[in-house]
Amino acid sequence: MTTITLAQGDITAQSADAIVNAANSSLLGGGGVDGAIHRRGGPAILEECRKLRASHYGKGLPTGRAVATTAGNLDARWVIHTVGPVWSASEDRSGLLASCYRESLRVADELGARTVAFPAISTGVYRWPMEDAARIALDTVRAARTAVEEVRFVLFDERAFEVFTRELG
Ligand code: ADP
Repeated sequence: MTTITLAQGDITAQSADAIVNAANSSLLGGGGVDGAIHRRGGPAILEECRKLRASHYGKGLPTGRAVATTAGNLDARWVIHTVGPVWSASEDRSGLLASCYRESLRVADELGARTVAFPAISTGVYRWPMEDAARIALDTVRAARTAVEEVRFVLFDERAFEVFTRELG
């Protein structure tokens, strides 16, 4: 059984086996969660990301996929990087957003992670509406077959926390 919990605040202050990064496909850093993770996690994370770019992910990490690195100085064993889709009004990309959660949990299972902290993927710079993103995130995690015991959504602001609380039901 996977328990879903909610927390409000900065995901880089969390303690978990794995912390999920809302990365971009370059894997070389960005704003939002990504910037915060690299700032607080230190250079070891970027170093591993660069190695991934030089080996398996020469063209970058595709949208909807996930890959793990060290968590550097974060209070976690791993960072799982996943690339959310940019929200589009004309195209339904929900399958890709769901895939981020599914693939991250698959990677977590491969690693043996039991507690995983997720941000609200795609709801920042990628503009996904919070209600819809929360519903997709929660439905996907509820439906996932995983050995992860706790999935914790870490919502940055009060509004996001309230939306997730409502959608969790
Ligand atoms: P994306 O590019 O996938 O939209 P962002 O990092 O821009 O990713 O935003 C994703 C969500 O994470 C947004 O709701 C944003 O408010 C939130 N966020 C930004 N910084 C942090 C942080 N340090 N911890 C947790 N959530 C954060």
